[in-house]
Amino acid sequence: MRPADVKPDTWLVVAGRPATVPGAPLNIPIGPASNFVLGGDRTYSRNEATEGWEAFEAMLGGLEGGAAVAFSSGMAACAAVLGQLATGAHLVLADDCYQGVAAIAQDGVSAHQWRVERLPVTDPLWLQRAGEADLLWLESPSNPLLEVADLAAICTAPRRSGTRVVVDNTFATPLLQRPLELGADIVVHSATKLIGGHSDLLLGAAVTADTDQLALLRGARGLGGATPGALECFLALRGARTLSLRLQRAQGSARQLAARLGEHASVARLRYPGFGTIVSFELRDAASADRACRATHIIRHATSLGGVESTMERRSANPGQEHIPAGLIRLSVGCEDLEDLWGDLQAALRAG
Ligand SMILES: *Cc1c(COP(=O)(O)O)cnc(C)c1O
Repeated sequence: MRPADVKPDTWLVVAGRPATVPGAPLNIPIGPASNFVLGGDRTYSRNEATEGWEAFEAMLGGLEGGAAVAFSSGMAACAAVLGQLATGAHLVLADDCYQGVAAIAQDGVSAHQWRVERLPVTDPLWLQRAGEADLLWLESPSNPLLEVADLAAICTAPRRSGTRVVVDNTFATPLLQRPLELGADIVVHSATKLIGGHSDLLLGAAVTADTDQLALLRGARGLGGATPGALECFLALRGARTLSLRLQRAQGSARQLAARLGEHASVARLRYPGFGTIVSFELRDAASADRACRATHIIRHATSLGGVESTMERRSANPGQEHIPAGLIRLSVGCEDLEDLWGDLQAALRAG
């Protein structure tokens, strides 16, 4: 079956299954393997994907409209893409983006390797930079300010030949936004987050519809050795089966909680783009945000996001996040009951 034959929700369920022959299991079994008998398609699993990775890649690639290359983490996927940048390259990077990506870019600047320009994702200058820079790296909604880029306009702006556009689609997931269809060259994911969905694995991917780019990404994975694990691919594919259900539930709650937080006297500013499962809100100051984060009983005080369990943290407590307002809390809404979450948040706000 091809992804175009069915709706994305169906694809999530049917993708990456063994052939339907009598007696076959419904899921590709977890198959740890490094070495294969010579003479077949696989020799050594740093170089050729195992069946389990391929199943995960088929699911994600089909969903994004390209071919996916799974990596051991989201950062490994990001590093493989950034590693293609030549010396002297001009990289334009969202000013509010994943701190690990910003740190790699900063290393490139410190080593006099690349020229890096940071822009708010809403800045119209992106359109101009499409015609000038070597690589545009966007994250939308951005993390954690949740600003939304006009991806369609940026991806279709006239480009210099060779300029590539990369979109980190971790927050939106391909169910809410498909950047390759809008004209992006590469989509990167931290499947650790919503795709895996259960805070029990690290996994990443880069997705592209360009065959040369696909070969580069596979080559970078093979040489860099940032290969995914068999168990991680199995769990992420299993998690992805319910991505649509989890997203619907969590997004519905996020919308409600955003509306209520926006009216709460303790919330100085609410940031929610109207879609997705992440809500950022600002309390008076860092101390107040810290008290609120420590006062919850259901929502875990934890850094990551996208799990069935709701989490929140004060983002400016992390290094390299100086641009973030001190009292900003990023809430990742999970699948618990909405009123339980609201009760927990109200108690946290009282403590703040
Ligand atoms: C977490 C995250 C990453 C990095 O992914 P890991 O799986 O933690 O390596 C990259 N981009 C975004 C938007 C993320 O949230």
